[in-house]
Amino acid sequence: MPYKRPGAAPGRLALVQAFVNTRDIDLDTDELTSPAGVRDWLTQQGLGFVRAPVDGADLSAAVAVREALRELLVANGDERAPSGGALEVLNDAAARAQLTTVFSAGSAGRLSPRAAGVPGALGELLAIVFSAMAEGTWPRLKACRNDTCRWAFYDHSRNRSGAWCTMSVCGSQMKARAYRQRRRAGGEGKPREREERDVTRPR
Ligand SMILES: [Zn+2]
Repeated sequence: MPYKRPGAAPGRLALVQAFVNTRDIDLDTDELTSPAGVRDWLTQQGLGFVRAPVDGADLSAAVAVREALRELLVANGDERAPSGGALEVLNDAAARAQLTTVFSAGSAGRLSPRAAGVPGALGELLAIVFSAMAEGTWPRLKACRNDTCRWAFYDHSRNRSGAWCTMSVCGSQMKARAYRQRRRAGGEGKPREREERDVTRPR
């Protein structure tokens, strides 16, 4: 599915972005809820050879890799190291894919999966992540800071300061939330506390 929202990642990194965005937390939709769903999505993206039967283990692996990638994107946004658990999931998936260095005449070396099926297709996605890390584009792929959104977006801002998938939706939502929290924490919060008590107290 082509990526339509603003903040599309360049080149093949858009595939990784689209993979993370197969789950829309905000709309509560998910394209990867069955083995067939996993096979169809990966095949549509031209990721590897997925004619082999796809089973529940493949579905679990795909979802685990997707959510581990999302954790890396949250970490990119927060400029912190990702959790050890997420890295372990990705390292295991890379091992199952048998990612191998391939040198060829006239082009730079690259990683390529030896495994077929879903493990190989997930390996192709991880190879794209690896290249993006090497090329320096990876830190710009982030998950929206709004924890009810977490949409993967590419930060095109000059100083790499983008935090939300869309400023008009999540950015303003989060700013309003921060404003309310500040009001509650500060002296201005008192009238609100009174309001809340008036609502909950029996009359
Ligand atoms: Zn968002």
